[in-house]
This record gives sequence, C-alpha cells and structure tokens, in this order.
Amino acid sequence: MQGVSKSFGHLKVLDNIDLTLKAGSVTAILGPSGSGKSTLLRTINHLERVDSGFISVDGELVGYDQRGTTLYELKEKDILKRRAGIGMVFQSFNLFPHLTVLENLIEAPITVSGLSRSDAILVAQDLLARVGLSDKINAYPRQLSGGQQQRVAIARALALKPKVLLFDEPTSALDPELVGEVLDVIKELASTGTTLVIVTHEIGFAREVADTVVFMEGGRILEIDTPDRIFTNAAHPRTCEFLAKVL
Ligand code: ATP
Ligand code: MG
Repeated sequence: MQGVSKSFGHLKVLDNIDLTLKAGSVTAILGPSGSGKSTLLRTINHLERVDSGFISVDGELVGYDQRGTTLYELKEKDILKRRAGIGMVFQSFNLFPHLTVLENLIEAPITVSGLSRSDAILVAQDLLARVGLSDKINAYPRQLSGGQQQRVAIARALALKPKVLLFDEPTSALDPELVGEVLDVIKELASTGTTLVIVTHEIGFAREVADTVVFMEGGRILEIDTPDRIFTNAAHPRTCEFLAKVL
C-alpha cells in the first residue's frame, strides 16, 4: 500500500498509509475501535475504493489497470477475478445460508476460476479435511456451530488459492470455547507459509503467530514492528497505552 487515503464524508479513515508485507508473512493489525482496521483490510480487495494512493498484490494493482501513466478502474467482472487472489474471512462468517457446506465451497471456484464441478469437489474435500470438517460436507450453515462455520468460511476462502488471506476479527463473534479451534486452523495456515493479515483482539495469538504487528490509530499506522518488540518495548506511547488496556 502506498500513500493510501480514504475518507467517508469529512472523516479521514485512512490517512496516507504505506505498508509493505512480505509473501509468506503473518501480520496482525491492532488498534482501538474506529481506527480504520476493517477499512484498511477492505481496501486490499477493493471492497472499499481508495481516494488516493494505490495497492498492489504480487505486482498486480488492486481494482485498477494501468495504461501509460493513467489508472483505469477495472470492470466488475475483472474486479471479481482479481479479488479471487485475495481471500477474506469476516467476523460474521458470511456463508451462503441456503447452500450446503460443499456448495458454499465449490460456488466460486466454478463461477470465478472456471473449475469443473468434479475438480471443485476434489478441492473442497481436501480443504474440509484440512479444517477438520469432512463429516459436515452436506450440512447447512445453520446446522453448524459458529466455530465450524468459521472453519468452513476459511476453507471457502482457500478454495480460490489466494495469494493473501485477510481476516477481520475472525474469532470475535464466537463463544470463548470455540475460539481455539479457529485459531488452530489459522495457526496451521501460518505454519505452511500462507500470507496472512489478521485484524484481531487476540493479543496472545498475535504474539505467538504473527511475525509483524501493526498498530493503527486514527487512520494511521503509528507503529510496525516484531511482536517481541511491540509487546515488551513499544516505541509509541499510544501503543503502550492501548496494550496496557488489552493485555
Ligand atoms: P472496530 O475495531 O470497531 O472494528 P475498525 O478499526 O475496524 O473498528 P473501521 O470499521 O475501519 O474501524 O471504521 C473506521 C471509521 O470509519 C469509523 O469511524 C467508522 O464509523 C467509519 N466508517 C467505516 N465504514 C464506513 C462507511 N461505509 N460509511 C461511513 N463511515 C464509515
Ligand atoms: Mg473493524
């Protein structure tokens, strides 16, 4: 992200954000409510259009094509195609309620990536095994616990083989006893080198799994560092204050 700004009306929600993340890295984004964390994530897959600056993933502009020195916003169809490379998992799971687990998993690979139904099913079976839910393949979302729904949502995002996977508070809608099973799946992804960006209030998890921690406030990145340094020796007084409240 280079010089990314975004306002809603008069409210500047992202203020000149510069952020570079390495492939295979795991980044935790922390910050108080309203600091712009969700908006930042949403700009990375063009769910939110930026006002200025630009974002690229693996050398490809998000939402735009460049011709000469001019940027053109992509057509909806191409936005969807490019978005397939940038997976997103929401706080509220967002599964299709009227589709079974299998149908949730194969829908986008068939319609967006052009996989055959049988290939999409093979991928889905593989991913369900990975998140420990092979036995739920024909269940509907309402028949699953929150933790199970979120694991399906993660599998669904992975089905498009994203270059980066964005998580917006993936465990904050879950009962406490279900948080662990979702964090375990994310931990497993982290250990296999998937590039992850996670907005989270799970400080212990961020400390254990992230290699980079970003602290945001008021639409700015106040501090970016290793978990070790942020959690023991943050440079910015606002980071210290925030962590003192949540730790
Ligand atoms: P939280 O921790 O509560 O999820 P956040 O850091 O994710 O907060 P954002 O959701 O990015 O914060 O919101 C940042 C600011 O932008 C807030 O003041 C919010 O009210 C405002 N905002 C977000 N989306 C919109 C929108 N679509 N229209 C108007 N204002 C918005
Ligand atoms: Mg948010």
